[in-house]
Amino acid sequence: MKIAVVGAGAMGSLFGCLLKEAGEDVTLVDVWKEHVEAVNKRGLRVYGVSGEHVVRVKATTNHSEVGHVDLLILFVKAYDTERAIRDSMPMIAEETVILTCQNGLGNVEKIGGLVSLKHVIAGSTMQGATMVKPGEVFHAGRGPTYIGELNGEVSPRVKNVVRVLNDAGIEAKVSRNINGVIWGKTIINAGLNAFGALTRMRNGELLLVPELVEMMSQCVREGVEVAKALRVKLEMEDPVKTLIDVCKATAENKNSMLQDIEKGRRTEVEAINGAIVRYGEKVGVPTPINSLLTALIKGLETSITGRTRV
Ligand code: NAD
Repeated sequence: MKIAVVGAGAMGSLFGCLLKEAGEDVTLVDVWKEHVEAVNKRGLRVYGVSGEHVVRVKATTNHSEVGHVDLLILFVKAYDTERAIRDSMPMIAEETVILTCQNGLGNVEKIGGLVSLKHVIAGSTMQGATMVKPGEVFHAGRGPTYIGELNGEVSPRVKNVVRVLNDAGIEAKVSRNINGVIWGKTIINAGLNAFGALTRMRNGELLLVPELVEMMSQCVREGVEVAKALRVKLEMEDPVKTLIDVCKATAENKNSMLQDIEKGRRTEVEAINGAIVRYGEKVGVPTPINSLLTALIKGLETSITGRTRV
């Protein structure tokens, strides 16, 4: 299968590496020149829970030189989605499938604003990875990746993508309710990430402070109420328990929002807490904790990056 991974940072490089090793025709596409140069010069190194890999894989900063692809896997941060799809237009032919496994809400809608939604399938991955340096990625954690058609149909193309991922050692499953899976992950991220970023605590440490656990739980409950009002069916039975379980299972981890803040980078807060607030406003469900967290993280981003918002 001819595959382009657009956004070949931590996750894109992980998926690209394993798919290339499995024999797929993979090109990594990223605007980060140093990373692309390192991959072309020395190969891509991925190490961690899946062992040690060094693969020779094509990498480019030029979206136009790849040509049409069968599968475009989008792994840019949520705030770069539109720009990345615009850049990727030359790769998208009639039959091209675009798979987003990004975190947060609204990525599908952003893609759909630029290309027909008939191209798009959505996903949510429980894999974890971090960039170490250009050309090098740490595979921090394994977990299933759920993939589904937006209408829940178990289509041949979804089954095919799931097969290709499994063949590459990326555990994948078809979901008939991918929107519910994405919402579920977003609600958990909303109740976890900003708290870690603001307190600089690892996931497990957050559980040591009862007041934090109470606010995190309320934050999750707000997301659940918004989802209910939108008739999104969540796959979790008890979302607050899921949040606590995730904190315990990933106790030593610094969540991605905390990592972004520590690196002085923009966060995905607008696609996580901010999106819950926006959907809440639409359906008349109050989301005061998510609103406050969105404001605080935006303030923190601005104080750290010096970036001003209008
Ligand atoms: P990352 O910052 O490591 O990688 C994103 C890459 O996109 C960067 O290398 C950046 O240069 C590139 N990029 C930006 N604009 C581009 C464009 N126009 N064209 C091509 N490349 C472009 O981020 P990540 O951690 O890999 O996360 C990617 C997405 O996956 C996010 O939505 C994240 O929330 C989600 N996710 C991450 C993890 C994880 O463990 N890292 C796990 C699950 C989901």
